[in-house]
Amino acid sequence: MLLRSRLFRRLFLPYLALIVSMAGVLGVLAATRLRHSHVEDRRRAFAQEARLVARMVRADLQDRRFEELQRTLPDIAALLRARITIIAEDGSVLADTMAHPRDMDNHRLRPEIVEAAATGEGAGIRWSDTVRADLLYVAVRTDSGCYVRLAEPLSRLAEHLAALYWGLAIALLAAVGAAGVLCYVFALRHTRPLFDLANLAEAFARGELERRSTFDKGDEVGALARALNDMGASLAGLVSQVARDKQRLLTIVSAMGDGLIATVRHQHVVLANPAAASQFALDADKVVGKPLWESVRYETLLKAAATVVQSGRPDALDLTTTSGRVLRIDLRPLPESGLVLVSHDKTESARYDELRREFVANVSHELRTPLTLIKGFVETLRDDADLEPRKTLEFLGIIEKHVAQLTNLVDDLLDLAELESRPGLPRAAKVDLSQTVQRVVDLVRPAAQKKEQSLEVAPSTETLVVAGDPDYLERAVMNLVDNAIKYTPARGGIRVALRSRDGKAVVEVIDNGIGIPPDALPRIWERFYRVDKSRSREMGGTGLGLSIVKHVAQVHGGSVEVESKVGEGSVFRIVLPLMHANGVA
Ligand code: ADP
Repeated sequence: MLLRSRLFRRLFLPYLALIVSMAGVLGVLAATRLRHSHVEDRRRAFAQEARLVARMVRADLQDRRFEELQRTLPDIAALLRARITIIAEDGSVLADTMAHPRDMDNHRLRPEIVEAAATGEGAGIRWSDTVRADLLYVAVRTDSGCYVRLAEPLSRLAEHLAALYWGLAIALLAAVGAAGVLCYVFALRHTRPLFDLANLAEAFARGELERRSTFDKGDEVGALARALNDMGASLAGLVSQVARDKQRLLTIVSAMGDGLIATVRHQHVVLANPAAASQFALDADKVVGKPLWESVRYETLLKAAATVVQSGRPDALDLTTTSGRVLRIDLRPLPESGLVLVSHDKTESARYDELRREFVANVSHELRTPLTLIKGFVETLRDDADLEPRKTLEFLGIIEKHVAQLTNLVDDLLDLAELESRPGLPRAAKVDLSQTVQRVVDLVRPAAQKKEQSLEVAPSTETLVVAGDPDYLERAVMNLVDNAIKYTPARGGIRVALRSRDGKAVVEVIDNGIGIPPDALPRIWERFYRVDKSRSREMGGTGLGLSIVKHVAQVHGGSVEVESKVGEGSVFRIVLPLMHANGVA
């Protein structure tokens, strides 16, 4: 990897090329110089040898014994491993070791002879037709004016030179090799830190922000490494800060009661909180990354979203989902064709509005009947001056009954309103339920006696104490016993029992009255619900008594139960948590 990096090649290859070319130039220069000095050496040695030969043949030349010379010269030539030619002053060949002088040209104009004639010594390299090779010629002039010339084939010289060249080449190669290794180490030393830093920067780009460089030199590369390390640390800090902020935001968004969906370009969902998932029946994880229209299929919403993205203006709409939820949806544009959708679930408030309307209608209806009657009788009393006193009394009795009905209604409504307005207990005191029951029974006994009903309290072996409001509890028990008296025919029986069950207190009101039909049983706790409206009104009932009982039980952390059979009677129960020894309910 490192060896293939451009920087390494840029540092290493030019130096290598420089070294090789310098070695080449040096080699060529050295070879030329070597050849030159070798030839020069050889020429000098030849000149010495030629002088030696001149001395040896001086006597023969003086005596002009050229035949004798022609015979003896080859032995000397063999010793010197050279061709020997003796040339007269006029250039005619007197003796030669390779050819017969008779067959040879005049040598007066041979360069080496011309030079020797002028300076006493001459040399030259020429092609020889006689021996058919390049020869090195060296000629010296003797005292007698003749010339002794030695010649040697250049090939022999070349053999020596080749050996020298080889030596030179090996030395140069070794030098180039050593310089190359040095160059390699140098390039590597300078490239590695930069290569490592480049890798570090790439790792940062991939998100591996915890990696650091260990390079710690005082030079510029060291400064770069430190700067990169600092950058990594601050990037890691930034990223973790961003991640923390994002997590915080996601937690907030997840905890939001309102639904939130955010989309980016092309309406691709990037965020959907659990509330949105439940409102639109989506899988919050699966919608992310997909277009909004794949998950949310409400035409009006999608159209409004497209318009908001296009126009860049916020919009809002109401939507009823397939599951019956009523949503108020706010759409706001985000930068770069994004969109944020906030859906507020109005189902509860819509239901509450509905209930409120229903309640007001019920109350108005309940008020109208007695008021109309009262108004009618009051008008009759006012307009009819001749009314018999007996009739007047009867009418006043009716008016009184309806006023009592209205009073009951207003009392019940006030109690309900107070119970509903407070989530907790109005007053938490120790309440001994047997006392509550006893007080109620004492209060209603006259009413029971009037109907010749038996009213008894089943004796309890344990003391049942609850934490609560004694007035409310008394009111609840009173409503049950009152109902039992009302809906039990004359001479019927009513029993109030008190017992504990699964660590809870149970107040039980049992009667053998008219009972409640099964289809009405689940509804009797509703406000204004009455099985038989006229009978209830006749009894002065408001239809709110059992609602109050249920509310009282609930604010005490308890519940209500009912069992009933038409014609046989009913059992109503209030179940309340018992107060523990430490006083906590
Ligand atoms: P009401 O003022 O009409 O008694 P309640 O809320 O107390 O209103 O009771 C609702 C209805 O439940 C009554 O109208 C009556 O039809 C039925 N109901 C309540 N208690 C009894 C009972 N002990 N026996 C038979 N019916 C009952």
